[in-house]
Amino acid sequence: MSAGLPFFRYHPDPLASGSIRESAEKCACCHRGTGYIYTATFYTAQETDGRFCPWCIADGSAAARFEGEFTDPYGLEDVGEATVHEVTRRTPGFIAWQDPHWLVHCRDAAAFLGEVGHTELAAHPEALEGLRLDLRMSGWHDEARLDSFLTYLGEAATALLFRCTVCGTHLAYVDAS
Ligand SMILES: [Zn+2]
Ligand SMILES: [Zn+2]
Repeated sequence: MSAGLPFFRYHPDPLASGSIRESAEKCACCHRGTGYIYTATFYTAQETDGRFCPWCIADGSAAARFEGEFTDPYGLEDVGEATVHEVTRRTPGFIAWQDPHWLVHCRDAAAFLGEVGHTELAAHPEALEGLRLDLRMSGWHDEARLDSFLTYLGEAATALLFRCTVCGTHLAYVDAS
């Protein structure tokens, strides 16, 4: 947990995930230098580079002022509108090869932990098993190939790791270039 930063229920350590970095840069919304700057995605039709301070993300002012979203609401159909707003407008997003989206568990948005390879994923067997099931469902029938793909996660492809905010189960999806 990063001391001094606002708390993001759905992205508890944005410094560890790299979405927020220590920087002297001034926030594109409040124009203050807070010591931290946001570096990941922001979708808006307006002109801004989306380099916001964590406080303008947390209180929703950056999303409101630039009428934008940090994350696409894709995948969040089963959670309430308040949660969708919190994830898309008041939570730092993250950078991925494919369009980033949020995972859902126990009918709540999960907390994004970061991009991981096989070693980190193996520390959460339930996430690894879930990923294996998803890949089988999407057409990976060759177990040996699937095993080798999972073993080399972290190289050509990575996994995006989440933790359920309700039951604590870890879950992940694969991101590839
Ligand atoms: Zn700001
Ligand atoms: Zn759960």
